Order: sequence, then C-alpha cells, then structure tokens
Amino acid sequence: MNLILLGAPGSGKGTQGALLSTRLNIPKIATGDLIRTAMKDGTPLGTRAKEYYDQGLLVPDEIILGLIEEVLQSPGAKRGVIMDGFPRTSGQAEAVDRLLHARGQQVDRVLLVDVPEEELVRRMRRRAALEGRSDDTIDAFRRRLGVYREQTAPLVAYYRERDLVSVVPGIGTVEDIAERVKLAVGR
Ligand code: ADP
Repeated sequence: MNLILLGAPGSGKGTQGALLSTRLNIPKIATGDLIRTAMKDGTPLGTRAKEYYDQGLLVPDEIILGLIEEVLQSPGAKRGVIMDGFPRTSGQAEAVDRLLHARGQQVDRVLLVDVPEEELVRRMRRRAALEGRSDDTIDAFRRRLGVYREQTAPLVAYYRERDLVSVVPGIGTVEDIAERVKLAVGR
C-alpha cells in the first residue's frame, strides 16, 4: 500500500505517519529527514539543499527528484511506502506516479492532515524552543506556510480528481487523530 501524507508544516503528519508505519509495518519515508541527514553528513546533496532549506524554501525538483527516485526504487519500498513530505510539487507528484506505475503500483490513498493556521504557528513556536531546527524561525516558518499554500496545496485537487483524498482533522490528541487516520486508511 502506498500512502501520501499531505499537510502544512507543523500539521503533525510526521507523528501520524510514524504511528501508521509501525502499525501497518510499511516504511515511512520523509524527504525532510533525508535532507537533514544529508546536510549533517555534508554530502553534495546536503550542501546544495541547505541554502533553500534554511530559508524555508523548497529544495528545487532537480535536486529532489533523484532522491525520490532512489527511495521509491529501493528494495525496502517494494511492499509500499508512507510518503511524508513528498510529493510537494506537481513535478514530484508526476514522478511518484511514474515510479510507482513502473512497479505495477499506484498511490492508494492521500491523507490530508488539516490544521488551522493559527494553531500551526503556535506549534511552531513550541517546536522551535524544543528542537532548535535551523528552519524553525518565525520568518522561515511563514515562508514555509506560504510555499505550502502555493506549491503543495494544489496537489489536493490533483488527487481529488482520482478520488484519493481523505481529510483528517489534525486537532485533538495524538491518539484521537490516529483513530481518524485508521478509519481513513480502512485498516
Ligand atoms: P515541515 O513539514 O515541517 O515543513 P519537512 O521536514 O517536511 O518539515 O521539510 C523541511 C524542509 O525540507 C522544507 O522546508 C524544504 O526546504 C525541504 N524539503 C523536504 N521535503 C521536500 C521536498 N519533497 N521537496 C522540496 N523540498 C523539501
């Protein structure tokens, strides 16, 4: 089963994706985590990504598409994956479709984790204090929200046309939201 988690930065899709991954025994792949590891290790991809990442901008598709190809073609992804943080642009969505089709698979469901913007800002302030991520400044966060609205939110329509989208209200306890995710996934 191939699932996509869509949601604004701070929506909690990563937390829900991790729980779902354990429950269904399907690997969760987060491009944000892969980028942070690449930056920490100082790989060429990490170095190229950093200037965009730190500003809260999307890393350009020309850098990301190879990464997506690598993860979707890896042996660990054979039985399906939970995609956290990608696709984020229409180019990435098309690449995901193409790579899955090449394996005789498809996107099976898209979970849209829905959280109002004022709650997202509150959460970000808390997370910045706890984790100190280099893109968790107010300016970068506002930019990430804008980028989400402009470049990623349009993917909802792309998947709605194929009737793949389930909206999961992302307010409540982690357990409440996990229960909604379970209903939406149907297992
Ligand atoms: P959040 O959902 O909180 O924004 P992520 O870890 O998913 O956190 O992403 C952090 C940053 O990593 C993004 O702002 C962007 O710079 C980069 N990034 C992650 N995934 C992608 C992607 N699929 N395409 C382009 N940039 C990405």
